[in-house]
Amino acid sequence: MTADITAQDLHEAGAVLAAESARFASFGWMRGTSGNLSVVLSREPLLLAVTASGHDKGELTPADVVLVDGQGAAVQGGKPSAEAELHARVAALTGAGAVVHVHTVASVTMGHRQPGGIAFRDVEMLKGVGQPAHDVEVVLPVIANSQDMKELGDRLEEARNPLMPAVVVAGHGLYVWGADPRQARHYTEVVEWLLELELARR
Ligand SMILES: [Zn+2]
Repeated sequence: MTADITAQDLHEAGAVLAAESARFASFGWMRGTSGNLSVVLSREPLLLAVTASGHDKGELTPADVVLVDGQGAAVQGGKPSAEAELHARVAALTGAGAVVHVHTVASVTMGHRQPGGIAFRDVEMLKGVGQPAHDVEVVLPVIANSQDMKELGDRLEEARNPLMPAVVVAGHGLYVWGADPRQARHYTEVVEWLLELELARR
């Protein structure tokens, strides 16, 4: 059932997620207990380590992690966030190995201003998400928020742009994914930078 995921594996994943969370919290992107991070530990069956719900994301320990299945239900550990279901959906849909969810001011503001999607072009920083800096317009999709993770997942699946490893959830925040926690972090920082740029331009 747990695909040979040991307590040690989960602890090591928890240590990685705690370090990533502390970094994002230091940027002010995980205020209060908001946001959550995950890393895929098994693809078949899909199992992810997700940060535990209700903790200060600047103070996580390696034990503050939950193992969840492809539906976001806890397999081992404490209580996962309801958003764990969306992490699992993103990992299954995109093949990503890590998912970042943060509540940033720039993502909420830009999602409000451009509910149809936020277009970027002619910005060197687009290279940071694997796109050419020039002559290509890359749209960051914006989807409506929902408390129903199935509905939110359906919206994300429909709106997803293969050129952009991220989606803005209106009035809520940002989901970003990458091959591993390090790439997911780089993509998160780049996407947030692009959003802050658009914010500064207006
Ligand atoms: Zn959230």
